[in-house]
Amino acid sequence: MDLSGRFREPRAPGDNGSMDDIDPVEQALHAARALVLADLVAREVAAAEVVSMVEESVTHRRWWVEQWPEGVSYVAGLVAQDVQDALLERYGRWPLCPVCATGDPHALDVEPELGPDPHWVCGKQGVVVAPVGGLK
Ligand SMILES: [Zn+2]
Repeated sequence: MDLSGRFREPRAPGDNGSMDDIDPVEQALHAARALVLADLVAREVAAAEVVSMVEESVTHRRWWVEQWPEGVSYVAGLVAQDVQDALLERYGRWPLCPVCATGDPHALDVEPELGPDPHWVCGKQGVVVAPVGGLK
């Protein structure tokens, strides 16, 4: 991203812009983006078009958190589900369950659907596979 054209507020002397300056909503969205991208990279689906799906979701969830600030800690799980839905429409199931060796391949679910600290779960066996951002 090119930040050169962006307006920058003047800073007080000695203020190097710590993380405290960053809006917690932006921090949460940034973290959500990083976690979901890490999972996409782990499963080798981080093509440009897929990355833009993540960006679309982050943009949508920024609006969503503005409507419902209490939901700020839920955005990682929501972005993961948005991307999962977008991939299902255009490519297919993601991420495939690594636990079930037999039967039709199925996608992992995000749990909780609406809550903090989201994980990828095999819904068939009720097994937690990895935290969102922790797929291998
Ligand atoms: Zn499974």
